[in-house]
This record gives sequence, C-alpha cells and structure tokens, in this order.
Amino acid sequence: NALVKMEANIVVMGTESVGKSALTVRLLTGKFIGEYGDIESIYSRDFTLDGRGVTLNIWDSPYSEDLAAEMSLFCKKVRWADGYVLVYSICDRASFNAVSRLVQRIKSSKDHLGTDKVPIVVVGNKKDLHHRRTVQSEEGRLLALSTDCLFYEVSAAENYHSVIALFHGLVDRIKDVRPVM
Ligand code: GDP
Ligand code: MG
Repeated sequence: NALVKMEANIVVMGTESVGKSALTVRLLTGKFIGEYGDIESIYSRDFTLDGRGVTLNIWDSPYSEDLAAEMSLFCKKVRWADGYVLVYSICDRASFNAVSRLVQRIKSSKDHLGTDKVPIVVVGNKKDLHHRRTVQSEEGRLLALSTDCLFYEVSAAENYHSVIALFHGLVDRIKDVRPVM
C-alpha cells in the first residue's frame, strides 16, 4: 500500500574511527563536523526517497574492544535491524578484515538463517584519503559481490552525495525483501 509509511531500522557497524558517526551525522545534517564523541544513539529522521516518505531509525555506537559487551550488543543489533551499513576505512586494512568477518557473522546469525537476502551495504569510507589507500576498490567490490551485498566507496568528509547514495541503496534493498512496506 503506497499510502502506508515505510519505517526501517538501520544499524551502522565497523571498527573504531572508520567514520561510522561521520557518515551518520552527514546523512542527518548534511554536514561534516570532523570530531565526533563516542555517543551511543538511535536517531530517527523522516526522508523523502523517490517521492515517498520513509522514517529511518539509525543506530550508531562506538566500537567496543570488550568482547562480551560487543557480543551482546551484536545480538541486540541483529534482532533490531532491517538493514546494515558495514563501514571500513580504505586506509585501514584491519577495518576491512573486520567488515568481512561481520558480513559472515550477520549472515550466519540465527535471525537471518533461511532469509536468502539480508540487506547489507559494504562501505569503504575516506575515499578522499586516496594517497593513503591500502584497500583497493576491487577488494571491496569482490567482497560485496561474493556475499550478495551492496558496495559503495564514499567520503563522509568530501562527498555528501555518495553518503546519500549508500543509504538510498540500502533502503531499496530493504524494500525488496519487505515488498509490503
Ligand atoms: P567512528 O569511530 O567509526 O564513529 O569514526 P568517526 O566518525 O568518529 O571518525 C573518526 C575520524 O575519522 C574523525 O577524525 C573523522 O573526522 C575522520 N573521518 C571520518 N570520515 C572521514 C572521511 O570520509 N574522510 C576523512 N579524511 N576523514 C574522515
Ligand atoms: Mg562513532
């Protein structure tokens, strides 16, 4: 029903300092402010996508090295989420490996078993820092291709449009798996 408003829960994940908060704030305010605290928050905001209203609830949280805490938070997020933004920095190889592991963990979590399509977007952030790149675009693209995820390389700092595009792409995926929305 086109008159029913769509609402989607989106969780932003990835290791420390990859730009999770920068991407979230960029989407919500249009701005890049450079410094972000370690605030755990779910932001709700109405958007118009393709002429249709959609409420996005976006869960941004600081990365925790505490394994037990991280694990229980992971389970909560998986129960809550309709879609995932998995962020790495193109200058940080370890953050890319972490995203690769996250994709597997999400897909094999019991909440998603038997679901053929889990809406996930793999995001290589900090594209503006190309002189410090250590993860090639091809690697990100291949990871996404082999796991049936979307892939975007973006810059929260310098390319607002790329940030909008990745969230838009994810919402389209969520719509695909929930056609009644
Ligand atoms: P989080 O820990 O994943 O939430 O990372 P933050 O959003 O706090 O960002 C960590 C640092 O990276 C901050 O100093 C940001 O200003 C910086 N940063 C985030 N995104 C970008 C980007 O696209 N380009 C550049 N050059 N710096 C970025
Ligand atoms: Mg943060």
